[in-house]
Amino acid sequence: MGQTIPESRVTPNSFPAVPPGDDFLLRVEGLKMHFPIRKGLLGRTVGYVYAVDGVSLALLKGETLGLVGESGCGKSTIGRCLLRLYEPTDGRIFFQGTDISRLNSGEMIRFRTKMQMIFQDPYSSLNPRLRVREIIGEALRVHHLVPEGEWTDRVRELLAEVGLQPDHMARYPHEFSGGQRQRIGVARSLAMNPELVVADEPVSALDVSIQAQVINLLDSLKEKHGLSYIVIAHDLAVVEHISDRIAVMYLGKLVETARDRDLYLNPKHPYTEALLSAVPIPAPGGRERRKSRQLIQGDVASPIDPPSGCRFHTRCPKMMEECRRIDPPLIEIGPEHRVACLLYVGKQR
Ligand code: SF4
Repeated sequence: MGQTIPESRVTPNSFPAVPPGDDFLLRVEGLKMHFPIRKGLLGRTVGYVYAVDGVSLALLKGETLGLVGESGCGKSTIGRCLLRLYEPTDGRIFFQGTDISRLNSGEMIRFRTKMQMIFQDPYSSLNPRLRVREIIGEALRVHHLVPEGEWTDRVRELLAEVGLQPDHMARYPHEFSGGQRQRIGVARSLAMNPELVVADEPVSALDVSIQAQVINLLDSLKEKHGLSYIVIAHDLAVVEHISDRIAVMYLGKLVETARDRDLYLNPKHPYTEALLSAVPIPAPGGRERRKSRQLIQGDVASPIDPPSGCRFHTRCPKMMEECRRIDPPLIEIGPEHRVACLLYVGKQR
């Protein structure tokens, strides 16, 4: 069990888990997104949804970060904040060394094409009234990425990159399967020649038999175009094969970050352990086995009124008395392995 520590020695979870320096493609410091809850005719603010509450992370060029957690933990909100689709309440976002969290919409334009998003539902993210040629060509037109006379060739090229046929450009989104629609979404992102792609639950709306194909496609495009990814998922199995590092989120905060293999073989946080116990592990003979399944008791607490101390204490099987009072800092316990749990305070490197 972890040692008892005085509250004065514990820094908040917003501890910047990111070393200084500008050799990162993306660096996020103390990101907060608190959505106001308004009531009455005058729209008085009566509270906040603490969707993201002090998250720091970084991404190297060419790296893939898997961001994982249960529905409602704030991971998709982070993705939208990074692209400034939401205006963060607080924190700083450095992209290629520039603090984009302070840029106005005009100044953001030159970063818009470099940061792209792939959405969970490929159907609702594609305009049903446009043919594929217009859906992908729109990006080329708005951002003047290729001369008008070359749009068709460029769209053909992009479709080939994602495994679709040239004649698909004359069709509408409803004429495609879910997997094909997601490929169109990927082609549309690629049209912008991005550096960073945020893929928000890119396969969770797809049939299990199609999921691996889309993940493999993302992986091969990363190699070919030197992309960096943040892949958001609620299922650790989805990000397992594509991620270099994984960050686990719970109720607006990071609870563990580690290299991919390290996290799978050596999880530290009780929440990560429970998530991993649900992931099948390949065994000799092609069979699968599972670690002894740990069910997490209860539901995720409300982000409107998060629990005091460690936010996971209401569900944690290893909860100690001080967990109710002390918000554990994210501390380094091994090479690139950080965990926010009082069991490890005093054991940091
Ligand atoms: Fe660690 Fe939180 Fe569980 Fe306490 S309640 S043991 S701090 S995860």
